[in-house]
Amino acid sequence: MIDTHTHLYTTEFANDSDSAIERALDSGVRLMVFPNIDADSVAPMLDLHKRHQEHTRIAVGLHPTEVRASWREDLNAILKASEAVAPVAIGEAGIDLYWDKSMRVEQSEAFAAQIKIAQERGLPVIIHCREALDEILEVLQAAESPLPKLVFHSFTGSASDVARIREIADPMFGINGVVTFKNARELQEAIPAIGIDRILLETDSPYLAPVPVRGKRNESSNLPHIMKKIADLLNLDPEAVEEATDSNAISFFNL
Ligand SMILES: [Zn+2]
Repeated sequence: MIDTHTHLYTTEFANDSDSAIERALDSGVRLMVFPNIDADSVAPMLDLHKRHQEHTRIAVGLHPTEVRASWREDLNAILKASEAVAPVAIGEAGIDLYWDKSMRVEQSEAFAAQIKIAQERGLPVIIHCREALDEILEVLQAAESPLPKLVFHSFTGSASDVARIREIADPMFGINGVVTFKNARELQEAIPAIGIDRILLETDSPYLAPVPVRGKRNESSNLPHIMKKIADLLNLDPEAVEEATDSNAISFFNL
């Protein structure tokens, strides 16, 4: 399995990031993609990647909740600081109006700028979208075509959200532990609409631990719980889901 979105380099793993990677490998996760958050997260992300180059890849970008008035300088600093390692994607980037709406315009601008960078570099974009689907689709519609490859990471929407998104793009959907939650009926019903060809597995560690470890610190070794839940929802063998999502991730990120 490939964990396409995991932040094992953050302070939550300050004491055991190396063993978290070992535990992931033991659970059958052979590759992990680290999306960047802000200018401060680049160094710890690169550090952990350098210690586990065979099993980790990086994405570079500025997370929407970290967008400030100085986002251009911050984004440049991130790109410069990560220059030595080739990223597999731009991200995470997007719009998040759940925590704070005051940077709405700047978040849209920073997202548009990162789409442009992805187009110039021929890289996919990892989209973080929280309470901002209208705004995200607006930016995608205004962007130059063809759009880069896209993944809606931590997708928790409904089948009708999937249909709306597909009027504008044909992205992948990153599915995490939320799909195992009892109250995630809408998302569970959206999984067949998304279809196995458009699903990427992710944990979003350290957040959103799946059932049966919900509420605890999440780590990449929990990915099999998510994979098995998707197999249940699609009536497929876990092996078939593992194989399909592996090949989705390999072709999406060009791994
Ligand atoms: Zn993330």
